[in-house]
Amino acid sequence: MSETIFSKIIRREAPAKIVHEDELTMAFHDINPKAPIHILIVPKKPIPTLADVSEEDLPLISHIHKVAQTLAKAYECEGWRLVVNVGEKGGQEVFHLHYHFLGWPKE
Ligand code: 5GP
Repeated sequence: MSETIFSKIIRREAPAKIVHEDELTMAFHDINPKAPIHILIVPKKPIPTLADVSEEDLPLISHIHKVAQTLAKAYECEGWRLVVNVGEKGGQEVFHLHYHFLGWPKE
């Protein structure tokens, strides 16, 4: 898999507004937000797409969902959405697996 901007952000070689980091993931604000809160949850393991996830990665996928719950609480979201674009036809632009966390906070 070729290097993406997300690998550089994970290594802190490119700037990003990082809001969460643990041993498996990093989460940072999307540069072009599509919702009041738009955060990308990115595994540190450079898996290109959701279609490339294997059985051994399932704990990581589960962990990403836990991170999403944590973000929803931290940002007091009344509603939120997790989106994964898969492949060019699916709207994927960056080929390093990422979940879009789109949140709408309480008014
Ligand atoms: P995709 O279309 O691959 O599902 O989503 C890629 C997302 O990455 C887009 O929403 C885009 O705005 C975001 N993005 C692209 N380049 C950068 C960057 O350099 N920094 C940040 N924070 N987000 C980026």
